[in-house]
Amino acid sequence: MNGNGKPAFFIKTFGCQMNRCDADLLARFFSAGGLAPADSPENSDLVHVHTCCVRQKAEDKFFSLLGGIRRLKTKKPSLIVGVGGCIPEKRDLAGDFPFLDYVIGAGEISRYADTLNEALHRLAPHGFNVEPRTPSPVSRFIAVLRGCSNPCSYCVVPSVRGPEKSRTPEEVEAEAREMARAGCREITILGQNVLAYGEDLAPRRTLLDVIAALHDLPGIERLRFITSHPRWVTESFLRELKNFPKVCEHFHVPCQSGDDEILRLMNRGYSSRDYERVVSAIREHFPPSSITADVIVGFPGETDRRFRNTLALIQSVSPDSVYSFKYSPRPGTPAAALADSVPAGVKNERLRLLNELQNAISRRINDSLVGASLDVLVEETVDPAARRYRGRTRTNKIADFRAAAPLEPGEIATVRVLRATPHALIGETP
Ligand code: SAH
Ligand code: SF4
Repeated sequence: MNGNGKPAFFIKTFGCQMNRCDADLLARFFSAGGLAPADSPENSDLVHVHTCCVRQKAEDKFFSLLGGIRRLKTKKPSLIVGVGGCIPEKRDLAGDFPFLDYVIGAGEISRYADTLNEALHRLAPHGFNVEPRTPSPVSRFIAVLRGCSNPCSYCVVPSVRGPEKSRTPEEVEAEAREMARAGCREITILGQNVLAYGEDLAPRRTLLDVIAALHDLPGIERLRFITSHPRWVTESFLRELKNFPKVCEHFHVPCQSGDDEILRLMNRGYSSRDYERVVSAIREHFPPSSITADVIVGFPGETDRRFRNTLALIQSVSPDSVYSFKYSPRPGTPAAALADSVPAGVKNERLRLLNELQNAISRRINDSLVGASLDVLVEETVDPAARRYRGRTRTNKIADFRAAAPLEPGEIATVRVLRATPHALIGETP
């Protein structure tokens, strides 16, 4: 129980934004069911772990956390423990860990309500009074496309989450309208390959239909979408996107590698030259836009020379930031049949070199913004007495700033940048 005598829940989330989006849904469900959020598993009556299996490290962390939770449950048998997300899609967790009270896979969204209601019922057999929702954050995610139908050779997502399945723009609009009513000002439209949205719908719909449906909802100030696979970024899409001024100038376009042979083995469907062209087109249509990317180092067959091609691509494209990962063989994927030829020490060294290069690039880009005035959507009050706030620019950069007058989350402030780090801008309002 927490201090208010309500049962408390704790959610631990691993992995991508899609998982965070699902975990956010669960948190709202638990809150609506009368539970209060707790700060640790020890202080909870219900612990939910939302899992990821895209890399071995996330799986290892999950199993070690599960060990700790099992010990907790031995001491406190009334604790309800549930697991969701991607690992249940490929492994029988309920069979292997009988102490789990429920297991729901990432693809079983429709079962969430029943499963969770059952868990809630066990915590309070006489039912809860569903409470009004806790104030909603200013910036929220909406998953519009689940699964992935791409053939990237290293990736488990298509097998654990299944093929692409789009929701209708009408359904998405209804969810967004509700979010806006509850105070949301910025929506990030989510899909593993979000530009493929609607390819499975009849009649055919596109991401632009979703954007059009959300663009003029009262309260919505900003729209974003991730992830953009480079092969789907076309001139005509970018041209049409310009009709929607609330779409922010930030594009997450993973390159994964800068070497054409590795890209071919990854089955990504583009060359490093194609990638450069895509980024140039984005910058041409949306100046000044920020570009972020994902990169995998140490893919099978990545020699020093091939890795240097990745560094060269990053140097030439100069993204605003890069999420870099060491290749992790995933059983059942086509790449798992290739020998994991790059030793762990070499992967670490490549990661270090890539991060070093990217930090220098990020620092240079952010330094160039010192003196600029940028719109920042306030997401958080850091210190009300000192009028310190945190938010994001349209280009998705974190901005920490001091305001001349008090602000509320959800307001947009014009912030003058005084200093920059590779990961944030520091400023003030005039
Ligand atoms: N759908 C998105 C993100 C997928 S998972 C996309 O296509 O970009 C997020 C990132 O994890 C990927 O972009 C990739 O860089 C990384 N990743 C996926 N599988 C991996 C693996 N087996 N080993 C290492 N990194 C991996
Ligand atoms: Fe995985 Fe490729 Fe789909 Fe991204 S686009 S989820 S990397 S298969």
